[in-house]
Amino acid sequence: MNKEFLDYVTHLPAVDAHEHLRLEEVRLKKKPDAIWLFHQYANADLRSAGMSEATLAEVMDTARPLDLRWKKFKPFFERIRHTGYSMAVLYALRDLYGCERLEDGTIRSVSERILAENKPGMIDRFLRQKGRITHILNANYQTEQPTPYCSAVMPFFFLTATLPHNPAAWVKELETVSGAPVTDAASCVEAIVALFRRYAAQRVVALKMISFAWPAGSRSDADAALRKIREGKSLSRDEAFLSSSFLMAESLKRVPEFGFTVVAHCGYSSGVNYPFDGANVRNMWPLMQANPEVRFDLLHLNYPWVDEAIATAKAYTNAHLNLAWLPILNPAVAERVVAEIVHCVPANKVLALGGDYWELPDVAYGHLLLGRETLARGLDRCVEAGTLTYSEARRVAEMWLSENAFETYPLLK
Ligand SMILES: [Zn+2]
Repeated sequence: MNKEFLDYVTHLPAVDAHEHLRLEEVRLKKKPDAIWLFHQYANADLRSAGMSEATLAEVMDTARPLDLRWKKFKPFFERIRHTGYSMAVLYALRDLYGCERLEDGTIRSVSERILAENKPGMIDRFLRQKGRITHILNANYQTEQPTPYCSAVMPFFFLTATLPHNPAAWVKELETVSGAPVTDAASCVEAIVALFRRYAAQRVVALKMISFAWPAGSRSDADAALRKIREGKSLSRDEAFLSSSFLMAESLKRVPEFGFTVVAHCGYSSGVNYPFDGANVRNMWPLMQANPEVRFDLLHLNYPWVDEAIATAKAYTNAHLNLAWLPILNPAVAERVVAEIVHCVPANKVLALGGDYWELPDVAYGHLLLGRETLARGLDRCVEAGTLTYSEARRVAEMWLSENAFETYPLLK
């Protein structure tokens, strides 16, 4: 690996193209320590390695004594020390909290340091200053953002069980925004457009959905579902999906008036003991075909079905690839796919970085650094193979890390 090239890629200004960062006050209320930094994605690896749900709850409870928790955490941590989920945490411990190796002799001192650093301005210190992040596309699903360079991504979810959890409350909210009753599919779509208008005034840049296998719902499915909601009845799963697919298809037609990008979760789901094949990039094909004016940012390279995402970005003029989460899901795949994407997909259609954390801007820093490394190593492989020069590789890195974000998200400023 060419050290100079690695340095170039790790120091470039970059756009963090996918986060869920909550307002900082949420994190400031916590009593974080080194174990707690494993609570988001890494908790799945701890469970996968054999930790029980009860032990997980115990070790993540920072009100309990650290020594007792560390004793229970350590054997499982040693099993997951080398996974990407852990690497993101360990990079943060090393670069932000000065801990070279998490072990018996360092757990207490690094935890004290984490608590001492739990003060306002964390996103700025960790991501903007240390991580050289200039903009953050932030799906915290609220228009209020933790920093001025976070841009809001709002939910593009309908009457399914995913979100809103309560369809009746969602319909009520739409009525408040639009100032008109939502009685059927037509009035619901108009209310959604009123919501879009409000989003546009609030600097929202994108809407986020999930690439479920949406069934072909009709207007009468949506009319019937909205009638049931008004009568206080709940929807079956089929009714929810059929009505949602119709409302989604109709409101997608209105997205170009506002310029929002549509972000779609594709592939793997976090957690354990869960079927993770529900969201596939293939499900986006009909929506992309029907809406050629809408830009679709396809998340996570549809891992583990990465070939399908790469082919999709090649085949659809409005498909973009977002590699957020991939570097920690599987760092070796994130490195390998660089050559496959470079030599298959136009260079303007890829966003390389996204941290994907809610309350962990420090671990997001670790994730983004790992993402820069896998990108640099993947590009270096191309240079080694003689298919790119270093100057071409640098250009690809500049586009994937920053420039492309402004093309994929025209509202990003
Ligand atoms: Zn996400």
